[in-house]
Amino acid sequence: MKDERPLAPWQWPEPHWRRIVERVRAGRPLRPASWPGGARCAVALSFDSDHETNELREGGESIGRLSQGQYGNRQGVPRILEILARSGVKASFFVPAVTALLYPDEQRRVVAEGHEVAIHGWIHERNSELPLEAERDLQMRSADTLEKITGRRPVGIRTPSWDFSPATLAITRDMGLLYDSSLMADVDCYELLMDGRPTGVVELPVEWIRDDAVYFNMNRFAALRPYTPPAGVFDIFRREFDAAYREGGLFQLTMHPHITGYRSRVWILEELIGHMRSREGVWFATHAEIAAYAKAHAA
Ligand SMILES: [Zn+2]
Repeated sequence: MKDERPLAPWQWPEPHWRRIVERVRAGRPLRPASWPGGARCAVALSFDSDHETNELREGGESIGRLSQGQYGNRQGVPRILEILARSGVKASFFVPAVTALLYPDEQRRVVAEGHEVAIHGWIHERNSELPLEAERDLQMRSADTLEKITGRRPVGIRTPSWDFSPATLAITRDMGLLYDSSLMADVDCYELLMDGRPTGVVELPVEWIRDDAVYFNMNRFAALRPYTPPAGVFDIFRREFDAAYREGGLFQLTMHPHITGYRSRVWILEELIGHMRSREGVWFATHAEIAAYAKAHAA
């Protein structure tokens, strides 16, 4: 009788594992020789306004956890916007469509203050768990929803939880988006390849190291409290920036209004901006501006 079990990874023939690796890959580096105005370093700050979708995405209905999401709107985003305005820094906000529908005024304020609003899924669903047609439909409806609310068509996407299905990149390319900011193959921008072929889509790479959530997330009912002290998080982010500055590259950071927007944490953002502002030749820009510049000026 024939053995129907799928092959174990150690039994996979070479074409099989090569095909998996080649689905989405980093291609041509898009690192300009210099940044606008002769700046030596680019800074891309981003805020993922997940708010209540953090609970809703898992089918959760916890009123307590939903209230933590609402904190993101009532306290987190305003505190962040005030710091950005005080320091004259532009940033990008990645917003699930459900967040935008719950808080349209928040999105309009973000855009009115000169920041970018970009795609972050419908309800923070995981792309790799969706049927293909649902993924395409949600990504397109998310773009339409953000455009309707803010008056601007989004040009970039950060997939919820940075989760990619084998179809995600094709949808992003077909929608004509300028950039994705969910993958981790470099510290500088690069062009995404799909099955070995260039797509024209710029990747503006993230990393969990440069994400507040991994240091501060807490599960009330687990014994572990995996907090990293805020000063420790600041030190990691500052070192990431200092090295980017030395190398003349890109410093990208991801924060969440419902995670960083607390009195004991939000200083990280303000002191980090102060530290970066004390250096000459730092270009603060939105993800869209940096992706467009990197694409047009790749060395
Ligand atoms: Zn998110």
